[in-house]
Parts: sequence; structure tokens; C-alpha cells
Amino acid sequence: MIEIPKTMRAAVTVAWNEVRVMEVPVPALRPGEVLCRVRACGICGTDLKIMAGVFADSKKWPRELPFIQGHEWSGEVVALGPGVTQEDIKIGDRVVGESHMFCGTCRMCQEGNYHMCDRAGGEKAYEKGFYLYGHDAPGAFAEYVARPLSLLYRVPESLSWEEAAIGNQAAVALHLADRGDIKAGYKVVVLGPGHLGLLSLQIAKAMGATTVIVTGRDDQRLALARELGADYTVDIREDAPERRILELTGGGADVVLECAGTPEAVCTALEVARKGGKVVLGGLTGGKQVAIDPDKLVLKELDVRGSHARVNSQTRALEMIAKGLINARKLVSFTFPLEEINKAYNTFKDRNNRAIRVIVQP
Ligand SMILES: [Zn+2]
Ligand SMILES: [Zn+2]
Repeated sequence: MIEIPKTMRAAVTVAWNEVRVMEVPVPALRPGEVLCRVRACGICGTDLKIMAGVFADSKKWPRELPFIQGHEWSGEVVALGPGVTQEDIKIGDRVVGESHMFCGTCRMCQEGNYHMCDRAGGEKAYEKGFYLYGHDAPGAFAEYVARPLSLLYRVPESLSWEEAAIGNQAAVALHLADRGDIKAGYKVVVLGPGHLGLLSLQIAKAMGATTVIVTGRDDQRLALARELGADYTVDIREDAPERRILELTGGGADVVLECAGTPEAVCTALEVARKGGKVVLGGLTGGKQVAIDPDKLVLKELDVRGSHARVNSQTRALEMIAKGLINARKLVSFTFPLEEINKAYNTFKDRNNRAIRVIVQP
């Protein structure tokens, strides 16, 4: 049995935009929970917003300070809570964790859409135990996390902790691609060469897309997109990028995956999809409105869909990394020990570093 200490190091958001590494109690296990030793946790754009207090009023992320953030983590099982046995999961198992608790009994959950659980989110969700870890319940910028067994997924042996942490968003990208019903031989356009876009590109290729075009405004990121398999990249700073995409696809893409989360990208997506094509919106504009030409949807009979979080895709995403269909290593730009979390945040924030993912190792 591994000796579990009483206290641990954790990066605590003590005030808006102020994070301090300090000694805090190791979380106690409630029935059905598992204690994991966190080995890697990625910083994502949402973390910067949570840290700045952007969601404090609207979503209660977090509900109060001090708070421990971090939701794209991987780690190792070190203790089992009441009601969990070695039949369920073994000490030493390597896992990643889903972030939100779901009920398992509402219509969404029963139909397999547990990522949209009716009881999760909203007013009283937290009080009822439907936590969103790293957002309103303790996250993984810490040595240990306590998580319900139902939220844990086993990680293939060959993956490093960092690759496994990337696997969290790989599952989000896979859900996005699933929503696009990508078929072998398709031409796919990925808007936005960030973490989600670079994962989506690789997944589209693995699904058999013969032409994948990635758009963006950053030379280095577009070069990385080509390195990761993009057939073409289109710089949106150049003249008429949409016309260029229409040329490259011979009249429009079968599927457009919107990974930029900007109003402009939504308009571009509708423009470059072929007649009868699919547009999947995967980025959030943060409530910004978009003026679209509805005639385009009507006349082209476009299918426009949304996609958020991940559902039924985590195990497959990890498997794809293990088999080399997704190169996760190239997306890890920097790693820092937990004690240097502020350096990690600053490295991620500074656009000159062009960091795709910065990973913290508690
Ligand atoms: Zn995230
Ligand atoms: Zn539910």
C-alpha cells in the first residue's frame, strides 16, 4: 500500500490572476471515489479565463476563492474510497479523468449524451454533487485529486503522462470529427491551428480524409499543421482566403470543422462548405453574435451542428495516440514543475512563445 501524506502541494488561485503554490490537505475520499496522484496537467485557454474571474458571476467557476484549477490531467490510482474495490480499478492504474459529474438517469444520460446531462450545470448542480472539476470543484494543479470511479479512463501503457494529458482534448477533437461524419475520401477544412484544430486535423486524416486544409494566421502554427499532415494551409491574412479554399477543394469542403471560436470563422465555414456539406462548430465565441446569410444555408442545404466537450470518445482518442494516429508529443510545447506554475501560465499567455500546450507536472 502506498503511503498517502496528509498534505500536498497545490497551485491555488488565491485572488484573480494570482496563483500561489502552497501546502493544502490531501482530499478525503467519499464513497465511490478514487484518489489519483496527478502526473501531468495541461493549461488551456479556459484556465486563463477562470483565473481572471471571467466566469465567476455567470457560471460560478469557481464558486469561491481560494480555488485549485486544472482539468486536462493524467495520473495514477493510489487509493480506493469506500465501495470501490480492486475489481473496479487497481492501485497503480494509469488514468485520465472526465471533468463533469453526470447523473446517469436523465434522458440525455440514458441516450448516451452524458456530456449534456440535464442535472449537470445550472443553478443547483454543485449542491447536488454534479461538480465540474477544475471549474467549480477542485482541479488537478495539485499532487492528488479525488475523482468518482465513473469519470476515470485507463491509459494505454505506451503513452507518456504528457501524451495522456493531451488525450483529454484529443477526445474533444474526436467528438467534433464524429459530429462531422467524416468519411474516407472526404475533403475537410479545419479553421484554426490551435490545440483543438491540430488534433482535429490529425483525426480527420486518420478517418480517411484525402485532403485536409488548415487555416490560420500564424506561420509557425501553420507549419506545424503541415508537419502533422495538413495537405494545404491557408493564411487568412492573405487576400481572399475563402476563394483559395474553394479552389483547393474544387468547389467546397465536404466537412468544415470550426476550431477558432471567432465570428469570422463561422462565416468562413458557411462560405467554404460544399453544397450538401456539413459545418461543425467547435469553438465558443464567448457570446459574440454572428451575422450570417441564411440563404446560403437554404440554397446549399448545409448541415450546421455544434459540438462541445467529449462523449464516448475518450478511450478511442487514447488508443489513437497509442497507435501513432495522433501525434500528441508535438503539441506539448513546454513542461514545468508545479512549483513553477506562474512561469507556465506566463509562457502560455505570451503569444510569442506560440505554445500549443503547456503542461505542469505536479
Ligand atoms: Zn480545457
Ligand atoms: Zn444526466
